[in-house]
Amino acid sequence: MAELRFKALEEVFSRQPRKVEFPSNEVSEFFGTNVFDKPKMEKFLNREAYKSVITAIDEGRAIDRKMADQVATGMKAWASEMGATHYTHWFHPLTDGTAEKHDAFVEFGVSGDLIENFSGKLLAQQEPDASSFPSGGLRNTFEARGYTAWDVSSPAFIVDTTLCIPTVFVSYTGVALDYKVPLLKTMYALDKAAVEVCQYFDKNVSKVFANLGWEQEYFLIDDALYNSRPDLILTGRTLMGHQSSKDQQLDDHYFGSIPERVGAFMKDFEIEAYKLGIPIKTRHNEVAPNQFECAPIFEEVNLANDHNQLVMDVIKRVARRHNFRALFHEKPFAGINGSGKHNNWSIATDTGINLLSPGKNPKGNLQFLTFLINVVKAVHDNQDLLRASILTAGNSHRLGANEAPPAILSVFLGSKLTETLDDLVEKVTDRKMTPDEKTELKLGIGKIPEILLDNTDRNRTSPFAFTGNRFEFRAVGSAANCSSAMIALNASLANQLKQFKVDVDEIIEKGIKKDEAIFQVLKKYILESENIRFEGDGYSEEWTKEAKKRGLSNIVSVPQSISTYLSEQSKKVLIGNGIFIEQELEGRVEVEYEKFTKKIQIEARVLGDLAINHVVPTAISYQNTLLENVQGLKDLFDEKDFYEMAGARIELIKEVSNRISTIKQLVNGMIDERKIANKVVSEKEKAFQYEQKVRPFFDKIRYEIDKLELTVDNEIWPLPKYRELLFTR
Ligand code: ADP
Ligand code: MG
Repeated sequence: MAELRFKALEEVFSRQPRKVEFPSNEVSEFFGTNVFDKPKMEKFLNREAYKSVITAIDEGRAIDRKMADQVATGMKAWASEMGATHYTHWFHPLTDGTAEKHDAFVEFGVSGDLIENFSGKLLAQQEPDASSFPSGGLRNTFEARGYTAWDVSSPAFIVDTTLCIPTVFVSYTGVALDYKVPLLKTMYALDKAAVEVCQYFDKNVSKVFANLGWEQEYFLIDDALYNSRPDLILTGRTLMGHQSSKDQQLDDHYFGSIPERVGAFMKDFEIEAYKLGIPIKTRHNEVAPNQFECAPIFEEVNLANDHNQLVMDVIKRVARRHNFRALFHEKPFAGINGSGKHNNWSIATDTGINLLSPGKNPKGNLQFLTFLINVVKAVHDNQDLLRASILTAGNSHRLGANEAPPAILSVFLGSKLTETLDDLVEKVTDRKMTPDEKTELKLGIGKIPEILLDNTDRNRTSPFAFTGNRFEFRAVGSAANCSSAMIALNASLANQLKQFKVDVDEIIEKGIKKDEAIFQVLKKYILESENIRFEGDGYSEEWTKEAKKRGLSNIVSVPQSISTYLSEQSKKVLIGNGIFIEQELEGRVEVEYEKFTKKIQIEARVLGDLAINHVVPTAISYQNTLLENVQGLKDLFDEKDFYEMAGARIELIKEVSNRISTIKQLVNGMIDERKIANKVVSEKEKAFQYEQKVRPFFDKIRYEIDKLELTVDNEIWPLPKYRELLFTR
């Protein structure tokens, strides 16, 4: 039974790190070589086609159909020179990860011979069979068609011998079936709303965009060990496994040097990432054993997100070259830290100003405060939407556990900014302010850059923390597509900024000066959103109690959280700002329920299978050994001696026997509940059923199995143990 496990361990012990060298010490020499970026476009496109692409990028629209043929020809010429034989439309379906369908460049020419071709039609629009991508009933099956079209704001790239074209994915009827379309729409909405607000401060601003810098955490597990854990293979996490005697108590992994084999892997994947134009900047060990992180320099959110999806793909692929498997699941191992994906988010203008960075003068600082306070207010008003954007089956293991921010949204600003806001509330009055009062207020605001410089207090337990020039949304799960969180955030802020403009203009109309009107509205917002600000330990018991007192929502149920996508407030933000139409939003929510149900369903099946087909037979075989042993003793000794000698063993037999029975009962109970749940028609009800009736079995079954793991002879235990998964490399 344990052969696979021991063979795997032997394999791991014999591994040698691969030798990997950067192609050059200067990363800039090979950075972006696999990307059809502007310099390459200029080289491979004629002037007219090049200009049309650049205009499309600048204006944020699709390329001109008339130009598409010329663009395609140039793109193909470059791709062929790079050795590409196929192309694919690369997109973000509502499942995890990205999708692609590879086609060769070949077609039949007029004469009937095979020729190489790639026409503009294929670049501007392609029709994959969309019937098997989740759409939440958005598409009737007879209409199993979706269109893809190049998102020009994200350049084409080559992986291996395939030209990948980042695309949007919409149904035949124009309904978005991916993450990209709504993300682009939120950027448009945010741009419009933010530019209007910027006009109060600087008339030169004509475009505002959001930036994203993600920090990707992941685990690396040896290939051979991974392959002997069906739960890892099928669900991405271990459904059983007793805690290792040593795990992360000593924090030695976080501070330790990067193991050699891992170092080689990192270099290797970074080379690929650089070639794909992904500006990786940081690599380090994380807290848990075998856990690592990488982070790039931030980019515009759409591109940054494409790069994140791509990096996950590159990590997975390159890991295999080094006999590793990369795990992106939020909680692959119970009892030690899970993985997140901090989303560092900021908004900036085309005049080069980061709106979440204090300005150089009081005016700039008032602009900074305006955006900062509007973000806080947006988070306050949209706690549920933001949570819904990140709370998935996988991430639910992480949130609310004692090592990650809970399912309560709160904002950390740091003590200095908190003082500034308090000051503002105190000094701004509802009557007209005197010139002296105004001067004093502005003096206070003028000091922000100085105080922020030495404001190094950082709160690691906050789900949404201000970190000097950006907010860090830390509750995002490691496996997520960042779009989900970014859509919620961008749309919430866009909605908020629109409201801000209305509120300020209303006061200005009453004859109050602009600055003072802004101050008054900011004061009102600070007071209205006070509750969401929290500077203390977000992991603590007390915070949960305190948050409840404050009336903040704390939703740990995944289906319940999903349902808040359809609350009045969420609809106001998402539908009201043109991100979704009602039907699309409802469709997405269905998809979310469905995804949750399927994940739990698969986990339940795998757990049942492992329990009954792997663990129980092992336990029985161990029990038989014990029984034989006891029988032998009984044959040999008289009754009194026998009981003295065999007493402990008999207890053990009873314990093993009880656990076997309990496991069988629990698995049967779980199967019964699954059968009931499967009959439920409504996706929403089904998700609730799976969460409330099926999922609770997991921990109970696991408990028994983990106890058996401690009891049963190590020599016959079939599944690699935590200490082996986490400490052998
Ligand atoms: P830490 O672990 O201290 O939070 P990291 O260096 O791991 O910091 O990651 C910080 C991330 O934040 C990087 O991706 C970085 O590019 C990004 N970042 C820095 N400044 C901004 C900004 N103004 N807007 C968005 N992201 C930013
Ligand atoms: Mg960070």
